[in-house]
Amino acid sequence: MKTDKFIKDNNRFTKARKALLEVLKNRHLTFKELHQELSKKGFTNISTLYNNLDFFLKNNLIIEINLDGIKYYDLGKDNPYHDHDSHLHMAIKDPESGETIIKEIDYPEIYDAIKSHPVFKHYHIDYIRILVSAVKDKKNP
Ligand SMILES: [Zn+2]
Repeated sequence: MKTDKFIKDNNRFTKARKALLEVLKNRHLTFKELHQELSKKGFTNISTLYNNLDFFLKNNLIIEINLDGIKYYDLGKDNPYHDHDSHLHMAIKDPESGETIIKEIDYPEIYDAIKSHPVFKHYHIDYIRILVSAVKDKKNP
């Protein structure tokens, strides 16, 4: 089902759920960060967040990106805010602070190349997720 219609037709689409999608626009957040951002908007209930995340994950509106055992949440492929089949993720680690930021890189050619590979000819691809892990090159900034 297309997300626009899904949102319109679903009477369980509460303000807390809308706020959750808003907070994830153009960002990739951990559960803790999600909770912090939603708390600023007045949605402080952890079990509501947990349930809403679960609901969105099941409906493909949100996906998980697992990076070294830490889960980041991102808008899924059926979401109008975010087309997941055209960009890859790059996780950039800062070795000094230990912090990681996730960038999105538009690269539809890679997705087209994968989809047209003969090995997938007799399959329907559910999704393709590409995650590149990198550290900033100090010698070549
Ligand atoms: Zn993303």
